[in-house]
Amino acid sequence: MTTHLVVLGQLVELLGRIPQVIIRVARPGELLPGELGATLFLTHEILLRPGLDPRTARTTLAHELVHLLRGPCFEGDEHAEEQAVRALTAQILLPPPGWPPTVDTPTTAAGLAERYLIDTDAATLALELARGRHGEVA
Ligand SMILES: [Zn+2]
Repeated sequence: MTTHLVVLGQLVELLGRIPQVIIRVARPGELLPGELGATLFLTHEILLRPGLDPRTARTTLAHELVHLLRGPCFEGDEHAEEQAVRALTAQILLPPPGWPPTVDTPTTAAGLAERYLIDTDAATLALELARGRHGEVA
């Protein structure tokens, strides 16, 4: 199986755990400046900023799917929830068969981002998490 199919499989698996979701491009004014995406819990909608590059779009979609899966958080917990969602997203987007790394697994954030079609921030976080867990990567 190619890497592309593996990473697509991760998203499809995530989708399979959500009873209903509408994924669409955000209309003008629906996102705050700088926001790449958003989750509307009441309507089960995920909004993506128009014009995202493919890696950022994939990462943002996975991030918002994780938000939807976890549900809304309590007021005041937003920061901790965001950190948890970012960590889960990074772990989901890096396929388990490639982790811990094999000989040809990239060990830099840029290399991981390219291999797994994710944005560099998610790759950096995934690497940090893996280093914390395994303590021997790169
Ligand atoms: Zn978020």
